[in-house]
Amino acid sequence: MKYENTRKIVLEAILEAVELGLIHGTSGNIALRADEDDVVAVTPSGISYSKMTADQIAIVDLNGKWLDGPFKPSSETPMHTACMRARKDVRATVHTHGMFATIAAMSGELLPVTPPQCEFVPVGIVPFTMPGSNEVADRVVEALGEKGRAVLIKNHGMFCCGKDMKAAMAATIYTEEMAQTAYYAKVAGVFQPMPEEAVRAMKALIEADQAV
Ligand SMILES: [Zn+2]
Repeated sequence: MKYENTRKIVLEAILEAVELGLIHGTSGNIALRADEDDVVAVTPSGISYSKMTADQIAIVDLNGKWLDGPFKPSSETPMHTACMRARKDVRATVHTHGMFATIAAMSGELLPVTPPQCEFVPVGIVPFTMPGSNEVADRVVEALGEKGRAVLIKNHGMFCCGKDMKAAMAATIYTEEMAQTAYYAKVAGVFQPMPEEAVRAMKALIEADQAV
């Protein structure tokens, strides 16, 4: 199997996302750039993730052209490849339809409540555009900017990225957690995001790799 290691990492990540309840059914998709070539392994379209095998993960080029694998690449591949073309630092991307991120996208803002969440802000919000279109891909890339790790897509879900799969999954898990905490805190009437100054200080610590 070509790109075996890359495909296995994508498979493990999608199974973890399913287990964590971040992905239901065949919604959501994950991609990873291969180390050896300018190709990307991406979850295929319409296949149940729970029984998927590594050889069923699709391989595409950086423009999303299907190169290998028995099933068509995800229809949302343009978002993943557009992000990797635009950001040399990004090797892994995760897109989910998580419930709390989707609700946060409607509320119009997402703010951190705990220190680990600070790494992933500011979280941009992209207006609704048709899933799978180049337009949504362009909007996501624009909202991520040069350093962004997570964006919310209105009436759709979330898109996260990182230097490797661990980083992209951490962005996904903490952004969903941020949205969930904010939701319950707002329902309870006690919502207090972290002070802006504290967020800036935490981000500086994380960037200097000194956060505990
Ligand atoms: Zn989607």
